[in-house]
Amino acid sequence: MAKDSEEPKSEQAGEVGLPNAHTTAPDSPSEIDPSIRSLKDLIDRATGRDFAGVEYESDAGIAEVWPFPFLALVGQPEMKLGLLISLINPAVGGVLLVGPRGTGKTTAVRSLIDLLPAVWHSHCRYGCLHDDIENGGVDAVCPNCAEKYARGEPLAALEPARLVELPLNARLEDVVGGIDERAAVHNRMRLRRGILAFADRNLLYVDEVNLLSDEVVDAILDAAAQGRYTVRRGPLAATYHSRFTLIGTMNPEEGNLRPQILDRFGLRLLVRGLADSNQRMEAYKRTQAHLSNPRQVTSLYADETILARDEIQAARDLLPQVSLPKTVAKNGLELIKSFDIASLRAEITMFEAARAHAAAAGRKRVNMDDLRTVAPMALRLRRSPFMTKYFVDQEGEEEEIIHALDKLSEKSPPKTKKKPAKTKKKKSSG
Ligand SMILES: [Zn+2]
Repeated sequence: MAKDSEEPKSEQAGEVGLPNAHTTAPDSPSEIDPSIRSLKDLIDRATGRDFAGVEYESDAGIAEVWPFPFLALVGQPEMKLGLLISLINPAVGGVLLVGPRGTGKTTAVRSLIDLLPAVWHSHCRYGCLHDDIENGGVDAVCPNCAEKYARGEPLAALEPARLVELPLNARLEDVVGGIDERAAVHNRMRLRRGILAFADRNLLYVDEVNLLSDEVVDAILDAAAQGRYTVRRGPLAATYHSRFTLIGTMNPEEGNLRPQILDRFGLRLLVRGLADSNQRMEAYKRTQAHLSNPRQVTSLYADETILARDEIQAARDLLPQVSLPKTVAKNGLELIKSFDIASLRAEITMFEAARAHAAAAGRKRVNMDDLRTVAPMALRLRRSPFMTKYFVDQEGEEEEIIHALDKLSEKSPPKTKKKPAKTKKKKSSG
């Protein structure tokens, strides 16, 4: 790698416009190439570049306020790609990160904050949007919003998507909502929206999803699948929108997910610890630097982060035009068939992820490389090791039963040895 001792010029820190803006300064390798059209290249380059040191400060700020930059994450290319794909195309149906503790799953998810695309955020507690009226008429929104719409007032504003975290100890009441205690104090009965409604149009992050109670997991997955949910408390009922991208993590050492829950996550990303010592050292360096001076680490990646966010938005905008050619679709379906995967979510996730992957590279047609890249994330853990083992166990048990029966018949008068040679045992009628 050719190193350049040149210090970054101050003019470089100016505004970074759209990726296809001008600025040509090929003589400075530290300059960001604004003509990049591949999100992957951008991420790889930013992530892999030499990490400049930071000034260590004893109390530079709270790390949570400055999340670890996504582009500073070392290694884990599949995890990063999968997360970006879910930002580009929510139709992949969520992401599950599977791996042991301390492999950076939570850090990676939180680092997405700076990359989140802009989405319409409703002004209303029920999450009403213009789209709802376009798709389902004025009855699809609450009476308040229907009136607003009639007056020509906006129902929503375009804002960056948010990362909503489900607390580990969340109760069903917190998740779906319930009686508003504050209103109850004033003798008014009102429902308060839950975390699922807050997550509408945003990302919902559920850490350790395998440790949640079944009722909470079911509520989340139902809401995610339907895009809305209804709460009933006594005489009160309300329906809230819940169109969120679900990102979950689980550590298989701490218990498994029920197969029907596992099936409802689109992409499955295996997150292993970094195997390469150099990478581990680099990760350590960056983590320590971020702990000491989070603001400065963030600023080191600020320009590229803005570029990446613009690329994600551009890919999202391109997505509706990205088509899946018949030959690629056919190969994909053959692949699923050969793996004996039952769930229809397999192809939905795989094809939608492939479309997002093509869009991230600025292409309007999915090709076999897209499919090759996303197929493992979309299809792994879908063959249901549980069911396979279950059937094998059952077969084993069946053999045992037959074997035991054979033994018994050996002890008792040996009427038949192994196969009764065509003895007509059928009850002949008449
Ligand atoms: Zn409304």
